[in-house]
Amino acid sequence: CGIVGVVGKPAKDIILNGLTNLEYRGYDSAGIYLNDLNGNEYLTKAVGRISNLKEKLTPDEQGLVGIGHTRWATHGKPTVDNAHPHFDETKRFYLVHNGVIENYAELKEKYLQGVDFHSDTDTEVIVQLIGKIARDKDLDGFSAFKEALKLVKGSYAFLLIDNTEPDHVFIAKNKSPMMLGIGDGFNIIASDAISVLDQTKTFVDLDDGDVGDITKDNYVIETIDGKRVDREPYVLDIDP
Ligand code: GLU
Repeated sequence: CGIVGVVGKPAKDIILNGLTNLEYRGYDSAGIYLNDLNGNEYLTKAVGRISNLKEKLTPDEQGLVGIGHTRWATHGKPTVDNAHPHFDETKRFYLVHNGVIENYAELKEKYLQGVDFHSDTDTEVIVQLIGKIARDKDLDGFSAFKEALKLVKGSYAFLLIDNTEPDHVFIAKNKSPMMLGIGDGFNIIASDAISVLDQTKTFVDLDDGDVGDITKDNYVIETIDGKRVDREPYVLDIDP
């Protein structure tokens, strides 16, 4: 399983190539969300190989922001509906996730009665929870994300897009791998550095408990409680 996110550069091929480089981690399905920052968004998912996903994408489906995922199913069969990205009821938030949410059943029972679910995954509970919190408390995406994360138990590398603010990718890491790659006018998030080494050699390591707000020329890393943390970039001196 793997994740790749891009902000500030044509995202589709970078994500598809990155996910292909992450194939060694294993997967049963794949998906991608693209937003062209001009009011158009595209969600595409496929069971099986990344080539199946590529076949479903048309050339006009492009984005300057995007998140992609290869899934190794832990909760719910490998189907198109269970493939990531998942979205909330109002289709405002799109989320990819590597890891396992331990308390998804309790969260669903306690906070999400009456919500219309489209998959059998633990992951969808989290994106529905973010959407519910944003609506109920009238919060921006990053704040709703952090509020939701306070309730979540488990392992995760999350990439979140709020389509009311689509030039941001929000991230969170706990016990699943995720790195930040720094480009000139763009930024990349991926499960490992090697998968995106053709795009940048400058990386930022993330720690468990980090959450972030990534835009094309900035990154802000905080704790779930909103305390700023410094994460310094370094250059990885190896050839792709
Ligand atoms: N637990 C999630 C699911 O089954 C994510 C699995 C993964 O890491 O790919 O959908």
